[in-house]
Amino acid sequence: MSFPTQLFINGEFVDGVEGKTIDVFDPHDGSLLATIAEATEADVDRAVAAATAAYPEWKAMAASDRGRLLLKLADAIEANGEELALLETRDTGHPIRDSKGLDLVRTAAQFRYFGGMADKFQGSVVPVDRGFLDYVVREPLGVVGSIVPWNFPMMFVSWKMAPALASGNCVVMKPSELTPLTALRIAQIADEVGFPKGVINVVPGFGPTAGARLVSHPGIAKVSFTGSTPVGRMIASQAAANGIRTHLELGGKGANVVFADATIPKAVGGTAFGIFHNQGQACIAASRLIIHESVVDEFMEKFLALTNSIRVGDPKDPNTEMGPLTSPMHRDRVLSYVEVAKEEGGTILTGGKAPSDPALLNGCYVEPTVVQTVGAVRVNQEEVFGPFMTVQTFSTDEQALQIANSTEFALGGGLWTNDLSRAHRFARDLDAGMVWINSYKRAHPGSPFGGMGASGYGREMGFEAMHEYTEAKAIWVNIDADIPPFYPR
Ligand code: NAD
Repeated sequence: MSFPTQLFINGEFVDGVEGKTIDVFDPHDGSLLATIAEATEADVDRAVAAATAAYPEWKAMAASDRGRLLLKLADAIEANGEELALLETRDTGHPIRDSKGLDLVRTAAQFRYFGGMADKFQGSVVPVDRGFLDYVVREPLGVVGSIVPWNFPMMFVSWKMAPALASGNCVVMKPSELTPLTALRIAQIADEVGFPKGVINVVPGFGPTAGARLVSHPGIAKVSFTGSTPVGRMIASQAAANGIRTHLELGGKGANVVFADATIPKAVGGTAFGIFHNQGQACIAASRLIIHESVVDEFMEKFLALTNSIRVGDPKDPNTEMGPLTSPMHRDRVLSYVEVAKEEGGTILTGGKAPSDPALLNGCYVEPTVVQTVGAVRVNQEEVFGPFMTVQTFSTDEQALQIANSTEFALGGGLWTNDLSRAHRFARDLDAGMVWINSYKRAHPGSPFGGMGASGYGREMGFEAMHEYTEAKAIWVNIDADIPPFYPR
């Protein structure tokens, strides 16, 4: 398989100034997948300079022409879908059915949606004093720095780039050092479909070097960050000290509430998708099941049977339903929470270890794990970010809400009920940026995505995202106003 392994700066693939490299491993068996160029501070400087030079022309381009390029990119991503999906699978461990499915579909859909949005996002006219026309246009910010994690690397290229580019910004993206391959390949495809040089730059590197430079570079207007809460908070203060605005998509601890009147088979299937899709490595994962005590036995019997039937294995196998976690460090971190759960008095209902299959021994695998817990213990408070779901029971709606809202996070949450009033009441009262009723983890390029509290601020997707990447400019025109002199003489 051939794919780019150098930095993408000013429309060219180049080595880093310091000549450093990063080894990228296949999480299925630990084999070396690629050695790529590592970006350091000087490379970020080069990328920002290229984006700054490209910005005036990109900003001045007709919005419909920018949109057309994004639409072409969406088509080209689909045309190269098989290859991109396999690259994502090898880099991240996502089962190939997911890479070809949700990952690819959502990546193309995001570019297509914002391609269409580019020339439909408009300003306004404000009814001000007679004699004046006051109109407001939305202007791009300039060069946007995007920093993304390793859990959905291909999809996050589209989430960050599509609205920023559609609204006329240039982008310097730093993918995770663990999973840089699809970002580089998409940059190459963007070049092939005709994006001007310097509009898109991709500089894989480490957080404390390349990342830190991006959040303090004077040429950056905004940093859009997706990652952990501690790093997000740190970069927000660094960016603020340099007058750079931020958008933070951080961690989560999704509450998934099943009421006594829920349709249990649907709730079982939705919950399994909510927690186990992508090996649980999702900020919006349904990591806390909060279930009414009267249905817990019926639910768990079905849920554990389903969980134990999930096919864990080589992500390249089309029959595989759960692949490895993305890195050995992360596998160890997830497994360490099994010990925490035990110390806190939790009961492991299933999983809790690496699978015993000898074919998977060198990979980053963890069995789908379900833990019965009580109270505000660490495993109900801290983000595990793996195939690890806790179970808590409740007896009243008030108690369910209290448990659901008992973490510092407020990102995504779900509820399962057939009572219309309860559904809307609970959705209103749940601390979350996104609520799913009788489903879980739905996303669409038009629907705002983001959190509150320790889950960050700002929104990806939809018109909200276009606002994230633009600023209002009010223009006053004196048509026929007769302004009395302020200093009459
Ligand atoms: P992380 O915070 O360790 O790293 C995220 C990115 O930040 C990486 O590219 C990393 O290299 C970079 N980085 C690290 N230190 C930096 C620094 N000092 N300056 C600048 N950049 C730096 O997160 P991760 O482990 O890669 O990803 C998992 C986390 O991402 C989880 O907490 C998850 O919830 C979160 N996440 C949030 C969302 C969301 O939309 N809210 C989506 C996906 C993942």
